[in-house]
Amino acid sequence: MAQKVVVALGGNALEDKGLPSTAESQLIVVKKTSEKLAEISAQGYEIAVVHGNGPQVGRILLASETAKDVTPSMPFDVCGAMSQGYIGYHIQQALRFILNQQGRNIPVVSVVTQVVVDKNDKAFQNPTKPIGPFYSEEEAKRLQEEKGYTVKEDAGRGWRRVVPSPMPMKIVELDTVKKLWDSTIVVTCGGGGIPVIEHEDGSLEGVAAVIDKDLAAERLAEDMGADVLLILTEVEQVAINYNKPDQKNLAELTIEEAKKYIEEGHFAPGSMLPKVQAAVKFAESKPERKAIITSLYKAVDALEGKSGTVIK
Ligand code: ADP
Ligand code: MG
Repeated sequence: MAQKVVVALGGNALEDKGLPSTAESQLIVVKKTSEKLAEISAQGYEIAVVHGNGPQVGRILLASETAKDVTPSMPFDVCGAMSQGYIGYHIQQALRFILNQQGRNIPVVSVVTQVVVDKNDKAFQNPTKPIGPFYSEEEAKRLQEEKGYTVKEDAGRGWRRVVPSPMPMKIVELDTVKKLWDSTIVVTCGGGGIPVIEHEDGSLEGVAAVIDKDLAAERLAEDMGADVLLILTEVEQVAINYNKPDQKNLAELTIEEAKKYIEEGHFAPGSMLPKVQAAVKFAESKPERKAIITSLYKAVDALEGKSGTVIK
């Protein structure tokens, strides 16, 4: 049976820091990324795609707030939905074309995805994720008054709004993703999903928060019963003593080793740490499951055990 792989795409799969942040240059990068996704699919793996959205949703929010005197600004959950829509659209267009060229007519579809978070998650007491534009202290304090934003001074660069980063509990559209899985490449949980809280009557309400996309991909991989969680980023392997003279890249990492290295602070919070945490959680969920962290360009090699860091 074909192996099920949930692929999590990092920032570099969607945009190139050397190019302007226009839609056109993002599409160029997405085309290259799609070639890699098509390669994985051509190897016989069944894939679903989760992507980040940090810079993209930041720009949507910035544009919306800048134009607030012309048209009402959009709440953050809506900005997240917009980012899922346009990033998914780019992936659908680019990946479909490459697959068709290879004579493989696999449909690609994006699902606007809501992810339930716990309103009692302790992250809500301590918002940490900066989003959107920089403000002057005066402006920041006004937004705090008027809109109830939590604002913080950001390393001498000005004031920013911060939002919580709660854990993903449940993927609302999971059943649909399951039904599509056999026939279709589904792009889902973009940007970690739109965080929603579930009320007692079953209604959902979007909240201003950010779910880590690697943790959302892990949730998806577990709930789908995937075989592999493939986290693609800029580096080929996870390292200990990263960026130090004694840096050591790791080809394999047991759950116990990973936990020890997390304790010792080898993985930067907000970048490599959530990836290793997601990998550990997935590997721990069943003995036959493995997580791989590697670069977009080594993905196929890593699935064959020839590159990357495997956590099992
Ligand atoms: P994303 O690919 O999701 O955008 P980030 O860029 O935030 O992810 O995080 C990945 C980056 O984390 C790597 O490119 C690397 O620069 C950095 N990093 C931090 N600690 C480590 C480590 N211990 N081993 C490897 N890379 C690390
Ligand atoms: Mg990045």
